[in-house]
Amino acid sequence: MDDKQIVIIGGGLQGLATANALLDRGESVIILEKEEDIAQAASFANAGILAPSQSMPWNSPSDILKILSGIGKKDSPMALSPRAIPSLFFWGLKFLRNSTNKRFLRISKNCIDLANYSRSLTKEIRVKEGFEYDNTENGLLKIFRSQEALDKSVNISKALNSSSTIDVLDSQGVSLAEPELTTIAHQLVGGIYYPRDEIGDAYKFCKLLEELVRSKGGRILVNTEIKKILIHKGKVNGVITDRAILQTKRVVVAAGSWSHVLLKHVGLKLPVRPVKGYSLTLDTAGLNSKPKLAVVDESIHTAVTPLKNRIRIAGTAEFTGFNDDFHPKRVAYLNNTLKAIYPKLYSQLDLEDGRLWYGFRPMSADGLPFLGKTKLEGLFVNSGQGHLGWTLAMGSAALVADIITNKSPDIDPNPYLARRSL
Ligand SMILES: Cc1cc2nc3c(=O)[nH]c(=O)nc-3n(C[C@H](O)[C@H](O)[C@H](O)COP(=O)(O)OP(=O)(O)OC[C@H]3O[C@@H](n4cnc5c(N)ncnc54)[C@H](O)[C@@H]3O)c2cc1C
Repeated sequence: MDDKQIVIIGGGLQGLATANALLDRGESVIILEKEEDIAQAASFANAGILAPSQSMPWNSPSDILKILSGIGKKDSPMALSPRAIPSLFFWGLKFLRNSTNKRFLRISKNCIDLANYSRSLTKEIRVKEGFEYDNTENGLLKIFRSQEALDKSVNISKALNSSSTIDVLDSQGVSLAEPELTTIAHQLVGGIYYPRDEIGDAYKFCKLLEELVRSKGGRILVNTEIKKILIHKGKVNGVITDRAILQTKRVVVAAGSWSHVLLKHVGLKLPVRPVKGYSLTLDTAGLNSKPKLAVVDESIHTAVTPLKNRIRIAGTAEFTGFNDDFHPKRVAYLNNTLKAIYPKLYSQLDLEDGRLWYGFRPMSADGLPFLGKTKLEGLFVNSGQGHLGWTLAMGSAALVADIITNKSPDIDPNPYLARRSL
C-alpha cells in the first residue's frame, strides 16, 4: 500500500463523509471497517433527523436530572446502569462539569453553527449527486405536554437567536401542522414547528456515500478490524489489522463509540463514551393515517419519523457502556409510545414484522465532537457527535479534511478541535 494513502478507521457516517471530503481535496484514502458492510453500527437505523434546531447537548441541567432519576430503571427514557458507573466515572465528571446553563448555551451555539454548515453541505451533495435516501425537507414538529417545557424550549430558541426560524403552535396549530396528531391534540399544550429541519434514512445515505467514495477512487475494505495503530517516535507509522500490517503516515480515527478504545492503546484519552439507544421500524405501505412530519416528543427524547413506506420510532438513552442486551421494557416503551402518539396508524401496523435495532451514540463529555489533530503526528480524529451524528456529519468531515490538508476552513474549527481540554 502507498504510505501516502490516508487510513480511515470506521465506515459509519463520519468515516464515509471524511473519506469523501478528503478525496475532494485531492487525497487518496482507504476506509477499514470491521463489520461485513458499512454503517452497521450507530449509523444504521437512527431516528433519521437532520436537525440543526435540535443541536443541543444532552448534558443540559434538566437532562442531568432525568438521567439521575433513571438510575437502575429499565422503563425510563434516560437510564444509568449502576454497573456502568465505574467505566463512566471520569467521563461523567466532565459531562457534569459542562452542564451549567452558561456552558449549555455556549456549546449549543457551537453545535448549531456546525449543524447549519453541515446542512448546507448535505444539501450540496444531495443536489449535485442526485442522492435520494427517503429524504424530505418538510421540517420537524416538537410536541409538548406541559406549558413549562414549551416555554423553556421557546426561551432556549430565543437565547440561541434561532426564534425567527420557529413557529410556536397551540394544540390546534399542532393538528393543522400534522393532522395525524389530531387524536391526541387535547393531551398537548402545543408544539414548535422547525421548518428548516430535514429527515431521511441514514443507512441509505451512507450507501450512496460509499458508492461515491468508490467512484472517486477511494477504497473501502470491510471485514477488516484495526487492532492497533503503530506509532514510532511520536509519529504514525502504520496500522495492524486482523489481516495484515499496513504502512501509512496518516490515520483518521472515525470509529464512533470505539474511538476511545483505539486511542487509549496509543496513550491518548478521548472523552467519548457509548450511550445506547433503540429504534423500531415498521412498514406502512398501503396503510391509512400516515404522518408526514417527523415528530419529537420533548418530554421523553423520542422521535417518530416517517420514512417513505416506513415509520420509525427512536429514542431512549442508556448510559450502560457496551451492553448488547435487548431489554423487553425498552421494546415495550417504543411500542407504547408509538401507540400513544399515532393510535390510528398503530392499530393497522404489522407488529410481528417490526425491525428492532440498537446503536451506541458516541457521546462526548461536553456535547461537541472531537475533530482534527491529536498530540501524535499523523493521527487525526473525527468522533464524538453523540445524538447528532448525522446532523453534524458533513460539516465535521469538511473541517477534519481541511485540517489534514492545511486548507482554510469555512467555519471556525476552534470549538471542536480534538486537542481542546475539557
Ligand atoms: C437510537 C439513535 C437515534 C439517533 N438519531 C439520530 C438522529 O435522528 N439524527 C442524528 O443526527 N443523529 C442521530 N443519532 C446519532 C448518530 O446515529 C451517530 O452519532 C452516528 O451514526 C455516529 O456515526 P459514527 O460514524 O461516528 O459511528 P458509527 O456509525 O458507530 O461508525 C463507527 C464504525 O467504526 C467501526 N469500527 C469500530 N472499531 C473499529 C476497528 N477497530 N476497526 C475497524 N472498524 C471499526 C464500527 O464497526 C462502525 O461501523 C442517533 C443514534 C441512535 C443510537
